[in-house]
Amino acid sequence: MLKAAAARADIIRMRRRIARFPLLGRFSVLSLLGIALLGVAVGLALHARIQHRAVADARRLAVAVARTGAQSALTPADLRGPVGAARADQLDARLGRPLAASGVLRAKVYNASGQVVYTDERSLMGAHNDEIAPILRSAAVRTETGRGTSDDGHGAPTLSAYVPLQIGDAARPNGVFELYLPYAPVAADITNDTRTLIVLLTLGLLLLWASLFRIVASASRRLRRQAREDHLTGLPNRAQLHSDGRRALALSGRSGRLSALVLIDLDRFKEVNDTLGHDQGDMLLCEVAARLRDVLRPTDVLARLGGDEFAILVSDLPHRGATAELADRIGTALGRPFDLCGVGIELGASIGVALYPEHGRDLSTLLQRADVAMYEAKRGRARIETYDPARDPYSPERLALVSELRRAIERDELVLHFQPKVAIDGGEVIGVEALVRWEHPRRGTIPPVDFVPLAERTGVIGALTRWVLDAALRQCRIWIDSGIDLPVAVNLSGADVLDARLADDVAAALRRAGVPGDHLECEISEHTVLADPLRAVESLGRLRAMGVRLSLDDFGQGQSSLSYLGRLPLDEIKIDRSFVMGMGEDASDAAIVRATIDLGRGLGLQVVAEGVEDDEALAGLALLRCDVAQGFGLSRPLPADQLERWLAERTAARAAG
Ligand code: C2E
Ligand code: MG
Ligand code: MG
Repeated sequence: MLKAAAARADIIRMRRRIARFPLLGRFSVLSLLGIALLGVAVGLALHARIQHRAVADARRLAVAVARTGAQSALTPADLRGPVGAARADQLDARLGRPLAASGVLRAKVYNASGQVVYTDERSLMGAHNDEIAPILRSAAVRTETGRGTSDDGHGAPTLSAYVPLQIGDAARPNGVFELYLPYAPVAADITNDTRTLIVLLTLGLLLLWASLFRIVASASRRLRRQAREDHLTGLPNRAQLHSDGRRALALSGRSGRLSALVLIDLDRFKEVNDTLGHDQGDMLLCEVAARLRDVLRPTDVLARLGGDEFAILVSDLPHRGATAELADRIGTALGRPFDLCGVGIELGASIGVALYPEHGRDLSTLLQRADVAMYEAKRGRARIETYDPARDPYSPERLALVSELRRAIERDELVLHFQPKVAIDGGEVIGVEALVRWEHPRRGTIPPVDFVPLAERTGVIGALTRWVLDAALRQCRIWIDSGIDLPVAVNLSGADVLDARLADDVAAALRRAGVPGDHLECEISEHTVLADPLRAVESLGRLRAMGVRLSLDDFGQGQSSLSYLGRLPLDEIKIDRSFVMGMGEDASDAAIVRATIDLGRGLGLQVVAEGVEDDEALAGLALLRCDVAQGFGLSRPLPADQLERWLAERTAARAAG
């Protein structure tokens, strides 16, 4: 057990060591080893072939000498036993000279029983050799290399050849001629040839290795760069940001300085991409990258995280407020129109900031927190937000709240308040907006701003919207039954609008409650529609087909593209309450209210002013010929029974007045 664990640990250690050893290093060592092995194998094979050829040459010489010289000089009588001295001298004379001329060092003749019958070395006459019988049986020439011309194995290297002889009329070999040739020149030739080949081979293989190395090195460099770089803009990508970020944050940690992670998401990029095409979208992203680079210091890290999302890691911030200055500079840089095919395109950006070490000590946490801040920036009117833990849906307290919210929906802990919408001309109550509240058993009433965004970011919004739809339509039916004809407006979130099941669910809710489609209005906020205008148009079109009215909420906040406004199947726009509330003091707010009313009228839409807090605002809106007013000045959002009382009082007062 312990052994196995230790072995596993060893393997893991080894893998880590290998992983640390870069790819190129591993390739060079392994390929060099492979090529060296190949070189040795080829060298050995060549050496063997050269040796084989040299030996074959020597063997051919031995056979020629034996067959032309010895075979004709010898007689069957010579094979009976060691020849006499006279015959030996005679044979010396017949064979010795030609043999010496052919470079043969020594010669022996054996008879069939392996006895030396003749040799120029007399002391070996009559000696016996057991190897002769097999040679005669095989009738094949045999060669051997060894040392020395005598059988003592000393002296210069020699090559001995055994050549079977057929002396006289013998049908089969009846004797063997053995001769020793000098092997040194052959060996020298072999060594020379082999050396030349090995040198050429080594050079060739080294050249091959060097070119392979160059190819692999440049491919590896390219791959490394691609893995860490965004191919479109050439900026570092997410992986590179992480590694740069780790280093930069470690430095900031040591020096005790402040750093910040700034996340930028372009507004309306999708719209540009969809309308002008991907090539233009790509050009736009490159231009955005260039503009961002221009407002940064060389030490700041700018990365593209994908799509239209960029991140900047700013290290060594002089003070906390410096991020606001930077964000301002970014806002200004991206606020200038972009020139695409001669068309000036205006983009906005939502900017989220997370600070080191206040909001996180590592890059992943900072990224997540900057993302939360960016989401807040996208939703709200401010384009720049710094992370606020109280609004973070992923903080432990908020996550606990999400699961409570799920339960609250199931247990009907939510309630609806209704705020009337009043026709400015005539004062008729034309409908109510249903606004959700959470009656929390411990925390008391929680306003929608504290849980609707949470529901939107955690996928609970679908259930919440369905609950609100059912409750609002049920109430509408009760009012119809008691003779109060009061259409209800329900707020939808971005996810609802993009949910393909929305129209079916709305139809089912209308059926369940028995309410006609024209008694329901859906309010969608501007930024919701802009996230994916094409899908929104389709989804809203289906609702409209059921007679449901559609209203564009919080108009003026989302920097709408006016071209989409004409394409959306709308009945109404609601001027964001911040403009209405500010129109008394702020000339630009007043101008926006006026322009929105004109725009709405031009498009044939009903215009509702939200946030009408007093009679002065109401009078101002009447002058501007705004259609409908909604606000605390008329009535706060009220529970159904209180609203009925308000309605009754108002009807009574109007009848009296
Ligand atoms: P909204 O749809 O723009 O709703 C109007 C908000 O303005 C309401 O806030 C309302 O109480 C407030 N308001 C109305 N008149 C005045 C006024 O004269 N002065 C001021 N200062 N405020 C006024 P509430 O109920 O807190 O809702 C806030 C937002 O929460 C809503 O803005 C809407 O976006 C969202 N919301 C509310 N209920 C729901 C819901 O059921 N579903 C979804 N998705 N969102 C909801
Ligand atoms: Mg609304
Ligand atoms: Mg609104």
